[in-house]
Amino acid sequence: MLSTMMPVPLTIDHMIERAYCLFARELIVSRRPDKTLMRTNYGDVLHRAQHLARACLAGGLRPGDRVATLMWNHQHHLEAYLGLPLGGLVIHTLNLRLFPDDVAYTAAHAEDRWLLVDDILLPVYERFKEQWPFEKVFVVPFGEAPSQHSGYDCYEALLQSADNAVPLPEKKEDDALGLCYTSGTTGRPKGVVYSHRSTMLHAMAMALPDYGRLERGAAITPVVPMFHANAWGLPYSGTLMGCRQVFPGPHLDAASLLDLFEAEQVTMAAGVPTIWMALLQALDAAQGQRWQLPPMRILVGGSAAPEGLIRGLDRHGLHIHHLWGMTETSPMATAAALSSQEHELPVDEQYKKRARQGIPAPFVALRLMDDHGQEVPWDDRAMGEIQVRGPWITGSYLHEGTNPDKFSADGWLRTGDIASCDATGSIRITDRTKDLIKSGGEWISSVALENLIMGHPAVAEAAVIAMPHPKWDERPLAVVVLKPGQTLHPEELLAFMRPHVASWWLPDEVVFANEVPKTSTGKFNKLALREQYCRNKET
Ligand code: ADP
Repeated sequence: MLSTMMPVPLTIDHMIERAYCLFARELIVSRRPDKTLMRTNYGDVLHRAQHLARACLAGGLRPGDRVATLMWNHQHHLEAYLGLPLGGLVIHTLNLRLFPDDVAYTAAHAEDRWLLVDDILLPVYERFKEQWPFEKVFVVPFGEAPSQHSGYDCYEALLQSADNAVPLPEKKEDDALGLCYTSGTTGRPKGVVYSHRSTMLHAMAMALPDYGRLERGAAITPVVPMFHANAWGLPYSGTLMGCRQVFPGPHLDAASLLDLFEAEQVTMAAGVPTIWMALLQALDAAQGQRWQLPPMRILVGGSAAPEGLIRGLDRHGLHIHHLWGMTETSPMATAAALSSQEHELPVDEQYKKRARQGIPAPFVALRLMDDHGQEVPWDDRAMGEIQVRGPWITGSYLHEGTNPDKFSADGWLRTGDIASCDATGSIRITDRTKDLIKSGGEWISSVALENLIMGHPAVAEAAVIAMPHPKWDERPLAVVVLKPGQTLHPEELLAFMRPHVASWWLPDEVVFANEVPKTSTGKFNKLALREQYCRNKET
């Protein structure tokens, strides 16, 4: 029996019409490179987005064609997020922090036809321009007034060329809307293609109270770049819900972010833990004297939110909400929200719960599989690989199909993340398959050790890696960065850790460093650390 429901497709058209009718006067604020603010509203941004769609079609692009962006987080990037899919085009957000070779590889792999590039990012583009011939390159005036850059076209002139008579194409909900590449920490970047449907459903889910909690009246700042995993879908979710969007531009240091949060009274911001660790240090150092922030909700993901960070930000009225996901999962897949019973737990236990990655979002199915293809029990001890399935989880990679390393025989995405699950269904990530430390045949979780070390008051950040060992195969080595002005002896750190972990988990070696190298997306670059410290050992 067929339902009587209307077959209305889930496409970006509805999101745009809705925002245009209901939220036209809500503000969109972007901070320019010189730190002045560019203020406009949804009405203006959506108007420009429509011009962009029509101008691209008039200029010869066809639905399904890819248009790349090389841009920071600001109003014009939002125009591209909305306008390109409105024209049936596919927005490919180039990750400007990848190596130039890799950026060119992704543009070529996606067969991008046009590029929209921030004026201040032209030097980044020029490092790989010889390797992929975009048909046209439009310079977006972000750092300067619109002007002609020789050899390039002007974005403002493109918008002005739009012809209202050009019809916007009808889209099917499974048509491609956007394209992101994984950051390639394990080989060449891989393309993930989002559909209109997956993006709309993800935007709805992200708005839910236990996930992003996007509500009308919220002022939201995606610190996570719009060139990485769609800034966690926040530009779409914020548009769907009519939130004020406050974009930070290129200044992502703690003081600049805090200035922006204070000036614009931001109520929700999202980013990786390293951003918030720096922010916590700045807030602690200011001792409540410098910034007056509203109560804020902080979405943290991309790597594990250490318990010490959650506690620390709570002291300043910034409430961390912990999410897990990956480019392949749009990216939000799980979140840690406390149940009514868990709210009754002693405070220490509540913090432990909040530091977990939590339960899957509605429509996301999740299972933990052991090496023999069996699901592990929910006893919070047994560990297994997280596998996921759902309407915003990729079922393959662009031009690559379904490699069995990445997809199970029954079609679930194999994430490469290792976790245990407690009786309430909440997962706790213990490692990535490639980062686990295997000592004497037993697994040691580098993430658990890092979280413990980062709970020491003198420590700013810490990464733990596996070192080859003649007897035990591998042993943990901790690379520790101290807070400014602090001193710590390795023995003191080990004494701090001893009550919390089995003695054979304690690192064999603790080295102090000025910084932990980061990947293009701000995560600890363990590959680089292993190369650095393993090579030191060999020489
Ligand atoms: P890449 O895999 O290229 O680094 P992604 O941003 O897609 O780029 O990273 C996804 C990975 O980040 C996950 O597979 C997981 O290892 C890690 N990750 C994301 N969120 C969390 C989290 N909350 N806790 C622990 N690890 C996380």
